[in-house]
Amino acid sequence: MTSVGGAYGFRLNAPSSPVQPCEIPVLDPSPEEVVVQVAGCGVCHTDIGFAFDGVPTRHPLPLILGHEISGRVVAAGEGASRWLGRSVIVPAVIPCESCPACRAGRGTICRRQFMPGNDGDGGFASHVLVPARGLCAVPEHLPAGLTLEILSVIADAVTTPYEAIRRSGLGQEDVAVIVGAGGVGGFGVQIAAALGAAVVAIDVDRERLELASQHGAGLVLDASSTDLKGLKAAVRAFSKGSARKGIGLKIFEMSGTPAGQTTAFGLLDHGAYLAVVGFTPKSIELRLSNLMAFDATACGNWGCPPNQYPAALLLVLEGKVALAPFIELHALEEAPAILEAVAKHALRRRVILRPNHGAMKH
Ligand SMILES: [Zn+2]
Ligand SMILES: [Zn+2]
Repeated sequence: MTSVGGAYGFRLNAPSSPVQPCEIPVLDPSPEEVVVQVAGCGVCHTDIGFAFDGVPTRHPLPLILGHEISGRVVAAGEGASRWLGRSVIVPAVIPCESCPACRAGRGTICRRQFMPGNDGDGGFASHVLVPARGLCAVPEHLPAGLTLEILSVIADAVTTPYEAIRRSGLGQEDVAVIVGAGGVGGFGVQIAAALGAAVVAIDVDRERLELASQHGAGLVLDASSTDLKGLKAAVRAFSKGSARKGIGLKIFEMSGTPAGQTTAFGLLDHGAYLAVVGFTPKSIELRLSNLMAFDATACGNWGCPPNQYPAALLLVLEGKVALAPFIELHALEEAPAILEAVAKHALRRRVILRPNHGAMKH
């Protein structure tokens, strides 16, 4: 197949308005582009920022959102035919591979990057047109309990914390503190545990904490009933008891909330490393000089370079990172209501929207 007609999706026409169903004009891949028949597309708080919080998309509206995509390549442009028929994960950030940033190995900050649902139409759709470069191949035979649609969350909810944790150099001698054990943090806890670290999970939701303790967290702390002083004391006691020799906590802010960010920064100790993984457009007040006083490091990462996707996928295929308990599947048609529910933090799990290909005209 060289082009795809009859595709549909849900489009954001204006900020702070519900997404609307739309027909997509024939998708005709240019050289080095492919059309992916979407199996699933995860809903991220970045989408919520675009839809409700006035965060501008780089491509002007109207735009189909969604950047956490898995599916099957059903059409390929010149030079990309090797992907035809293959199951893939589409990276949330697809660097150009030729600019100075890319050549310096900093593809995530490539200014010519393509992010589906930001630089062009995304995955809240039956089909999406994306560059072939960076696609992550998925084996045809998946272990029991895994499906191609579920693997969509790897494109951001798994790989973004994976990259943050990888950059921190986290290992067996470290204590990792994951602030926010929700749609991203639940995976962060498991990745940190898979790398051998002693893991603390902090959240305000009992069920999330329960799940985190079943999936690798050695200590869970409820920030809704414990103040910062109490959290600090509990983390310190846990660190001591874990007998890890690493200097300084490795703290990962994955809640994407001002309260979580305040907690994460407040936990800094001598030699600490703080990675900001969650996103919120809101700001917080903090004493930046704590970085200096603690000789600490704070950093962030915009997604994950495509070359790290296979390693993150492997953690899932090997069963070291469970996806199923942390996700819930909904029909793509529910997109308007689901986006609102995610915006209100009414859903505990990462939502995956799934188009019904049986209902398509073609
Ligand atoms: Zn995202
Ligand atoms: Zn580039």
